[in-house]
Amino acid sequence: SPGLYIVATPIGNLGDLSPRAADILSRAAVVAAEDTRVTAVLLRHIGTKPPMVPYHDHNADQMRPQLIARMASEAVALVSDAGTPLISDPGYKLVRDARAAGHAVVTIPGPCAAIAALTLAGLPTDRFLFAGFLPSKAKARSETIAELGAIRATLVLYESGPRLAATLAALAEGLGDRDAAVTREITKRYEEAVTGTLPVLAARYADAPPKGEIVIVVGPPGAPPPASSEDADAALVEALTRLP
Ligand code: SAM
Repeated sequence: SPGLYIVATPIGNLGDLSPRAADILSRAAVVAAEDTRVTAVLLRHIGTKPPMVPYHDHNADQMRPQLIARMASEAVALVSDAGTPLISDPGYKLVRDARAAGHAVVTIPGPCAAIAALTLAGLPTDRFLFAGFLPSKAKARSETIAELGAIRATLVLYESGPRLAATLAALAEGLGDRDAAVTREITKRYEEAVTGTLPVLAARYADAPPKGEIVIVVGPPGAPPPASSEDADAALVEALTRLP
């Protein structure tokens, strides 16, 4: 039926494309793709050839109105090069405008590098903050790191191989010796997760920029604040009620 379909695609292993994603992609009237050449490979893999239009940071404002218009009577699928659209990828304004126009918005969830990295890192997952890519300029980067440092949560950052060493050095300087993990090439042949404190990881990668796509996961800051005595009393009372 007509509307906007947000379709997650594999981040390296084609086997991760869900049957539902394949079904929507083969039935969509049009697939809006970040890079149509990248998506063509995926569509060929599932044996379908729907019309595609490019939808990326540089043409989105211009393309959005015609896509919104088409959703009134057709199924429009949105994909990015890899993973979940809208997550450090284009799409949120398309969803916003589709909703404003009263069109159906349907999600077909699936691979997302941030979530996959959290499952590999062995760091707390009860509270996490996804911060995407840090700014590349040193001053803006250290300001952002200082802001993130105050947050009591695990941090998840996207990065590329060539910039990893500089980013780890800045994180070690700004956040100290927190536990962290560098996850790489997730779902691909050379998937790995290297764990250690930020200074240890910064030293390890200082002169050895790794290949491939990277997610950095940084554990939360030090010990949690001491519980107040009221909390301790309440916990004690609660524990006593459970005694036989
Ligand atoms: N929307 C995508 C998602 O759901 O993960 C992310 C798109 S963002 C432009 C690309 C970044 O995602 C890469 O620079 C890397 O940090 C991360 N990434 C994507 N695929 C990855 C993989 N297989 N292994 C590790 N990181 C990956």
